[in-house]
Amino acid sequence: MKAAVAYELGKPLVVEDLVLPAIGPNDVLVRLSASGICHTDLAAIEGMTPTPFPFVPGHEGCGVVEAVGSDVHRVEVDSRVLASVSPACGSCWWCVNSMSNMCEMGNTVRTTQRWSVSDGGSATALCGCGTFAEAMVVHEASVVPVETSLADEELALLGCGVTTGLGAALNTARVVPGSNVAVIGCGGVGQSVIQGARIAGAAVIVGIDPAASRRQASLVVGATHVVDPAEADPVEQVRALTHGRGVDYSFEVVGSADLMLQALDMARRGGTVTLVGMPPMDATLSLPAFRTVFSGKKILGSVMGDAQVLRDFPRFIALAETGRLDLGSLVSRRIRLDEINDGLDALHRAEGVRTVVL
Ligand SMILES: [Zn+2]
Ligand SMILES: [Zn+2]
Repeated sequence: MKAAVAYELGKPLVVEDLVLPAIGPNDVLVRLSASGICHTDLAAIEGMTPTPFPFVPGHEGCGVVEAVGSDVHRVEVDSRVLASVSPACGSCWWCVNSMSNMCEMGNTVRTTQRWSVSDGGSATALCGCGTFAEAMVVHEASVVPVETSLADEELALLGCGVTTGLGAALNTARVVPGSNVAVIGCGGVGQSVIQGARIAGAAVIVGIDPAASRRQASLVVGATHVVDPAEADPVEQVRALTHGRGVDYSFEVVGSADLMLQALDMARRGGTVTLVGMPPMDATLSLPAFRTVFSGKKILGSVMGDAQVLRDFPRFIALAETGRLDLGSLVSRRIRLDEINDGLDALHRAEGVRTVVL
């Protein structure tokens, strides 16, 4: 069984044959059919998250259940499943209070040593998944059974990036019809915010990105305007598109403190600023205190788009099945597992939107 292992900070992954881990009573064995490559994979490999090495990256994948532990109730053999970047046990305090994106299983699945690897040690699986592999053994809380005709390469994207973006617009910010929206950063997650805003009925949706290809792609998925931040002050460009007021909802989808401040400045008085991008662990955000309070702006952090995966995966799948959510145009490249380092390099260079391992 092949899996890609991250042994050292910043070094290429090693694709090697591993013995499948034992299946515990609450575990499921999933034969993976597709896995998206997400910025969080790159961030973990580059040491920007607290993930200890070695680990098997990949946390956005789908497949079919091949075996289940004795206490598994959520799925059965042959269930088609979508892995979730954050587990949702369904019964902890967070899960029953509609915050399953904060499920207390999160730490457990992230620190469980799953794999015996070739250097003689053992490895964890990123986010408790580890989808850069032919198969994975995960806690049942990390998978959601799905009934859908969606292709694997599209379904996989809902496991993290698309759900994070859609959820930021629909769950965190709760964009309303006729409103104005600006999205800073138009990669896979940013484009999903744009789609969420379109689905919610926003009137003006501005995509902001220095890459011409991503601005063009934003127009395809629902942006009504695009802004090149290199051309002129992006805050002024956005204000010019919104009667000088600024937008009702701004989103930062890069993870840069400077761009978070831009998002704050782009929002109108009383507007909502949603922070989605993953900043470096040691980054700080300094806010102008007087202006922040007396502008009445709301600043919201969005963890996985506040997604309640047991509820939202089926909703988002339905949006894709009925053509309202465009997943196909997000897939810019398809690779095999042994080409995984090429896929990560492309993401590092910000090429394309989403590379999918098939
Ligand atoms: Zn829970
Ligand atoms: Zn991700």
